Amino acid sequence: MSAQADRVMDLSEWENRWQEGRTGFHRSDVHNLLKANVDKLICGRREVRFFFPLCGKAVDMKWLADMGHTVVGVEFSEKGIKEFFQEQNLEYNEEAVADIPGAKLFKSTDGKISIYQCDLYKFSSAVAGHFGGIWDRGALVAINPCDRQKYASLLVSLMSSDCRYLLDTLEYNPELYKGPPFFVSEDDIKTVFGGSCNIDLLQSVDGFEEKHRSWGLDSLTEKLYLLTTKTQ
Ligand code: SAH
Repeated sequence: MSAQADRVMDLSEWENRWQEGRTGFHRSDVHNLLKANVDKLICGRREVRFFFPLCGKAVDMKWLADMGHTVVGVEFSEKGIKEFFQEQNLEYNEEAVADIPGAKLFKSTDGKISIYQCDLYKFSSAVAGHFGGIWDRGALVAINPCDRQKYASLLVSLMSSDCRYLLDTLEYNPELYKGPPFFVSEDDIKTVFGGSCNIDLLQSVDGFEEKHRSWGLDSLTEKLYLLTTKTQ
């Protein structure tokens, strides 16, 4: 990660991506590794409360909500959030958030999906409680490398004691591409989550796609980890 340690993307750069439609990270189908490992995420539980950090307009939120779970996401871009509700044909209400000045809450009228429009680091368990599941795709790999400990401490503070946290990461040669998404190794995960969580590698797949050639890469591995609290 040293080659990328100093790289910083500010929120306005993310917003510009949304405004200009440069959202190549978005997938129109449910993520293959989420589908393949959803039983390990849900673990037989009903009506799980899921947290989606840096949710974008991930269709995975609707997929889990359709199974009877509830979803809370955090996303900075209002445009991204509105596109989510429009593209999923979901009616929603918009309200202010008492605990976070300037933030907005976009909530589907059936109450199953809530997305907070704010900087993730302003969010906390005081705003929306604790979660039984977390789907982290394009989130730990998207935040600035210098913020990883802050990010991990926040995520751990949102986990209920039975929380199952699926973390999707990418490994590639960080000398060749500056990110985001950033390279995150198992050691990087252990450094920031290891004190609080058990970390199990569930799956490792060849994640190389044609678009990665334009990033200057010729290989990329996608890894999925399960994090559970050590108190479990
Ligand atoms: N998880 C989504 C989006 C990944 S891209 C998916 O899989 O499609 C990362 C997203 O995080 C972008 O939509 C960007 O606008 C948002 N983002 C980046 N930094 C953020 C921050 N500090 N707080 C809230 N959202 C942020």
